[in-house]
Amino acid sequence: MIPPIARRFVAGESVPEALDHVRACNEDGVAVILNLLGEHYDDPADARADVDAYLALLDDVAGSGLDACISVKPSQIGLDVSPELFESHYREIVARAHELDAFVWCDMENADTTDATLDAFESIAVEYPWSVGQCLQSNLKRTRDDLARLVDVPGKLRLVKGAYDEPESVAYTDKARVNEAFREDLTYLFEQRSRGVAVGSHDPAMISLAGRLAREHGTDYEVQMLMGVRDDAQRDLAAIGVDVAQYAPYGDKWLSYFSRRVRERRENLTFALRAIAGR
Ligand code: FAD
Repeated sequence: MIPPIARRFVAGESVPEALDHVRACNEDGVAVILNLLGEHYDDPADARADVDAYLALLDDVAGSGLDACISVKPSQIGLDVSPELFESHYREIVARAHELDAFVWCDMENADTTDATLDAFESIAVEYPWSVGQCLQSNLKRTRDDLARLVDVPGKLRLVKGAYDEPESVAYTDKARVNEAFREDLTYLFEQRSRGVAVGSHDPAMISLAGRLAREHGTDYEVQMLMGVRDDAQRDLAAIGVDVAQYAPYGDKWLSYFSRRVRERRENLTFALRAIAGR
């Protein structure tokens, strides 16, 4: 049983509960990105179980007619076992989504997984155009080059500031510098792409910047926010015609999900508490 403090951020333990949450969001014009909680499996059987759960979820979502897609984590579907296992699972999930006219996002984890994640994304997106999207983190110094590499790939790109503590050798660690990198990366994406840009941020300044850039360049874009964080802003943006998708985790591993988020970045706890306080 998920306690109320976590229930605000987690769509339930089961698929039917998660789909009920999707239904409620869709009524407000908000699409949902469902993530089955789970990560860092070193046993291939655990990764396989979550791949099977995602395949079944894609069927359930397609059968429901709801506006929802999924987001997987590399270490959930085999990256901690081997890059080959990860890529074959990732391809299998996207192939099913492609058949069902559904969509798969891939989250980005620690910086030492970036190469394997982007290599798999690039190859799968070329094979299954516009069925898959990849998250990139503006706190990483390499991201501008990665965007240049991926800008013409037929897959969506979700830009986020980055949730993982990384060393200064690979990442900007100063918040103002991360914000500057995010603005630069966002501007680059809107200038270079006509579609497939996702802004994964709760930051009102970044969301306004995206709106201005979209008007200037005519780019199709969407705003993505986490379940339980600025839910009112999600509804308000949807009401004025912005495409909004809410990232909603579900499943029985909610406790480790919260512990990990808080360990990774203390601010995540602050934001969780602020969101609970409705600010
Ligand atoms: P911050 O810089 O944290 O905050 C900026 C401003 O946003 C605040 O000053 C405030 O005005 C507003 N704000 C933020 N939170 C709140 C709140 N709770 N209540 C009210 N106002 C608030 N990270 C990864 O590393 N990999 C991923 O795959 C990944 N996927 C993501 C997917 C989605 C859909 C989202 C939304 C985030 C994802 N992240 C991911 C997390 C991301 O990297 C950031 O850590 C997280 O979004 C916080 O950054 P921010 O841009 O929202 O704003």
